[in-house]
Amino acid sequence: MLECCDEWERGSARAGERERGRQGENSPTHPLSLSQYITDCHSEARFLRRRISQFAISEMLRFAQHDKIVIYCVSPSFVRSALRNSTTNPTNSTPIRRAWLDRLARVALVAGVVALFLAFVSLLALWQRPAQVVALAPAPLQTIIPTLIPIPTATPVPTPTPLPPLVALVAGHSGGEDPGAICPDGLREVEITTEVAQRARQMLELRGYRVDLLAEFDPRLKRDYSPRAFLAIHADSCVYYASGFKVARAANSASPQEDDRLVRCVTSSYAVASQLAFHEGSITTDMTLYHNLMKIHPQSPGAIIELGFMGSDRATLVNKREQLALGIANGIERFLQGSACQ
Ligand SMILES: [Zn+2]
Repeated sequence: MLECCDEWERGSARAGERERGRQGENSPTHPLSLSQYITDCHSEARFLRRRISQFAISEMLRFAQHDKIVIYCVSPSFVRSALRNSTTNPTNSTPIRRAWLDRLARVALVAGVVALFLAFVSLLALWQRPAQVVALAPAPLQTIIPTLIPIPTATPVPTPTPLPPLVALVAGHSGGEDPGAICPDGLREVEITTEVAQRARQMLELRGYRVDLLAEFDPRLKRDYSPRAFLAIHADSCVYYASGFKVARAANSASPQEDDRLVRCVTSSYAVASQLAFHEGSITTDMTLYHNLMKIHPQSPGAIIELGFMGSDRATLVNKREQLALGIANGIERFLQGSACQ
C-alpha cells in the first residue's frame, strides 16, 4: 500500500549492520528508531507527503510501533502530528474535523441555493414590470441626438425668376415740341406713332414681355440702356407719290447681324399685318443715322420703322392701327424667339 523510503532503507541497513555487529546476526527487530527515520527521510518526505493520507500515516505509525521492522518515509512534522493525534486522541480528532468540514459544506450549499433563489425571484420581478424598467432606462441615443443637435431644416433658397426680355418702343416725336409730319387736314405723325406704339406695347406685355414705351428724347436712352430689342416707330410724310413702309438699322451698327435679323423679322410680320409693300428706295440717312440708334448700348439690337406714307397709305395708318401694332409685336416676338426670319 505504501512506498518505502529508499533513503531510510539504506540508512536502516547501515544502522542494522552496526546493530547486528553488537547484538548478533539473529536480531529480529528493526534497528532504526523513529527519530532516526525522521532525520534520514526528510528529503523523501516532501514527495511522499503528497501521496500518503493522514489516516494511512496513522495506520502506518501504529503498525510500525507494534512491529519495528518497516517504517515509511513521511514529513517529520507530519509524522509528529500524526503520532500525537494517534496517541492522545486516536479516535476523535479526525472525525471531529471532518464533521466540521461537512457542516461548513452544508452551510455553503444552503447559502448557494438561497442566493440562486433570490436571483431567480429578482429576474422574475423585472420580467413582470418591463414598462417600468424601460422608463428607468436611459433614452436611446437616437432620441437624444435630435434633442441636443437639432437638424437644421433646409431653408428654401429663393430661385431668382429670370426677367422676361425687355423691349423698347419709341413713339416717334412724342414728348417733345416736334410733332413730326403734319398733313394738311391736321393728321399728325405723332398721333399715329403714339397709338401704334401703345397698342404694340399692350400686345407684347400680354405675351409676357417687359416693354418700355419711350419718348423721342427719353432720358433713359443712354449707352448703358440695353433692351433685347429696340424699335423706333415713325411714319412718312403726307405725299401721294410713294406708298409702303420701310425698316432699317443703324449704318454703323456694332452688331449688324442681329440688327439685320431684327429688321427682317419686323419687316416680314409687318408686311403681312399691314398689307403694305416695302418701299426700300426711300430709306435715307434720317433712318440709318437715327439719333436714338446711336444712344442705346451698341450690342442692343435696334431698328427704325416708317409705318407708311401719311398721304398714300392714310387709310391704313388711320383705320388699321391695331393691325399695324400686331405686325410690330409679331415681328419683335419672332426676333426674341430666335427666328432667323429669312
Ligand atoms: Zn418721324
